[in-house]
Amino acid sequence: MRKNIVAGNWKMNLDYNEGLSLFSEVLNMVKDEATGAQEVVVCSPFIHLHSLAQLAKGNGRVSIGAQNAHQAESGAYTGEVSAKQIKSVGATYVILGHSERRQYFGETNQLLAQKTDTALANGLKPIFCIGETLQEREAGQHFNIIKTQLEEGVYHLDADKFAQLVLAYEPVWAIGTGVTATSEQAQEIHAFIRQELAAKYGQQVADDTTILYGGSCNAKNAPELFAQPDIDGGLIGGASLKSRDFTDIVKAFN
Ligand code: PEP
Repeated sequence: MRKNIVAGNWKMNLDYNEGLSLFSEVLNMVKDEATGAQEVVVCSPFIHLHSLAQLAKGNGRVSIGAQNAHQAESGAYTGEVSAKQIKSVGATYVILGHSERRQYFGETNQLLAQKTDTALANGLKPIFCIGETLQEREAGQHFNIIKTQLEEGVYHLDADKFAQLVLAYEPVWAIGTGVTATSEQAQEIHAFIRQELAAKYGQQVADDTTILYGGSCNAKNAPELFAQPDIDGGLIGGASLKSRDFTDIVKAFN
């Protein structure tokens, strides 16, 4: 049975103290809640990871993730951070293939396939992001784009390895824009992804894969999005920077 998850992506926001204080608020607010997402993941800048992991110790519901990891195990890559280093400070997730990494840092499906392998080899669970641009959607290419991102980014994995991934459908036109995909648009793509996974890995793997929606998700639209049969939670950017908004999204499951 797949898990529902709400993951926050802080991006390059919050200094060290601001991050710790926001995370402490989030921890307090989700601590005693029996309802809502089964797992809450906070994906912070690298500088926060160790401290957040320490604070989250003993809380079985809250996990920590990074927002990127290098494809190499280690070496002369000045300024980069490896999957092994991320894992060593207590993080368990890593976002890979976020559209900002694809757009501003030239990350291709081929590079992301390598990053996925290295993350998995070091015990990190990738939150693998896929999604089309506005231009691609308007050209009717969205299904093909998503299929190619899956084929080139993750389909080299065998079923056991694939089962460790979380997928996030993030239409690029909805990220940070205030324009959310309608629940029908999001559900249509999530159902398509699950159908693709069933064809590749079989129905059981498809049914067990958590597929998050991301793109201007907030406390207001989350309940309707999360009520869709193939939407298993959210990857939250802007709204993850406010403890009340984020925890309201965590609770937005029926
Ligand atoms: C994101 O960056 O993954 C994201 C979904 O951002 P936002 O919620 O701000 O649109």
